[in-house]
Amino acid sequence: MSLFDTMLTEDHEQVVFCADRAAGLKAIIAIHDTTLGPSLGGIRMRAYASEAEAVTDALRLAQAMTFKAALAGLDYGGGKAVVIGDHTTTQREILFRALGRAIESLRGRYIPTEDMGTTTADIERVRKESRFGVGRDEVFGGGGDPSPMTAWGIFCGLRACLEEVEGTAEFRGKTVAMQGLGKVGYSLARYLSEAGASLIVADIDASRTQKAAAELHAHVVSPTGILFQQCDILAPCAAGAVFQQDTIPRLRCRIIGGGANNQLLTDEDGDALHARGLFYAPDFVINAGGLINVADELGPGGYRRERAKAKTEAIYATLKTIFAEAKHREVPPHRLAVTLAQERIQGVRNLRRLNTLS
Ligand code: NAD
Repeated sequence: MSLFDTMLTEDHEQVVFCADRAAGLKAIIAIHDTTLGPSLGGIRMRAYASEAEAVTDALRLAQAMTFKAALAGLDYGGGKAVVIGDHTTTQREILFRALGRAIESLRGRYIPTEDMGTTTADIERVRKESRFGVGRDEVFGGGGDPSPMTAWGIFCGLRACLEEVEGTAEFRGKTVAMQGLGKVGYSLARYLSEAGASLIVADIDASRTQKAAAELHAHVVSPTGILFQQCDILAPCAAGAVFQQDTIPRLRCRIIGGGANNQLLTDEDGDALHARGLFYAPDFVINAGGLINVADELGPGGYRRERAKAKTEAIYATLKTIFAEAKHREVPPHRLAVTLAQERIQGVRNLRRLNTLS
């Protein structure tokens, strides 16, 4: 499918290619839908194998941000930037300032924040050239790293899942298998451990699993085996496309809910999980805490942690509504979540017919 065909099929508004030879910048900014407000989403830096892979990632992630913002009740649209390159590079100032100039040229249609491969420091580099950028360090009035809030939202969302499946939100006695113990995964592991859950963990970085074993008494398994552990909850907190044809039949969990974006390779894979009787919390609903946290910096009076926390805790109620409505409409929760997001966006789009004087 050509890029235009893909954009038209999924209703993407704009894709911007940015290159700067002197700065070594190769980046793509994808803006999916700005009906609810300016697009908001992270900058991902990765050594993509091809340009096509980078474009696909940008488009898929931007669309997920639209749905995420819509169901978190935020007045923002979905966007994402991907920078093609080694995310461990120390040559970051000019690179991210060059990207900042490209972002500024969009005059607020895309507001960046951090994502895999980028940090709050990179957002400050962007901010040297642009008025736009959230997820700022506390010293600049921001909310700092959004990952702990993402993890807190997942923890609240998993309580809703447990209630649906078990009739009680009790983690004690439950086993949670966790793929990835990075910024989100490790925070979530702490919350789960404090609540009494037993943890099975895997990470390609052995220092992280060693830490979890020592601090949280986690049982460590190999990254290739983690998805297929016998457990109550499986929490993917690393890369996307975890659930696909060859993994789904081998899963041995009852509930799935974690931080990773785009966990389903396709929507049909979500149907396959549902058909197997596995209870899947749509990723863009359960992992919205970080987006809520960074968006709060743009709220009245600037960042307020308590306000961001309260909105994040509403993920519990949002999931309960989705589960109940999905049952009522007899559709899988992941399909219903997309429908509800689209319904909110369409409702706001329709409002524009009601003109006022100002
Ligand atoms: P991170 O880079 O801090 O952590 C990712 C971890 O996963 C690392 O420890 C890495 O070694 C590990 N990992 C990578 N591949 C693995 C594999 N195959 N098996 C096991 N472990 C593996 O990233 P993060 O910020 O924690 O984000 C994790 C996921 O959550 C990403 O998909 C991200 O897009 C998503 N997410 C993050 C936030 C946030 O607030 N940071 C918000 C929403 C969604």
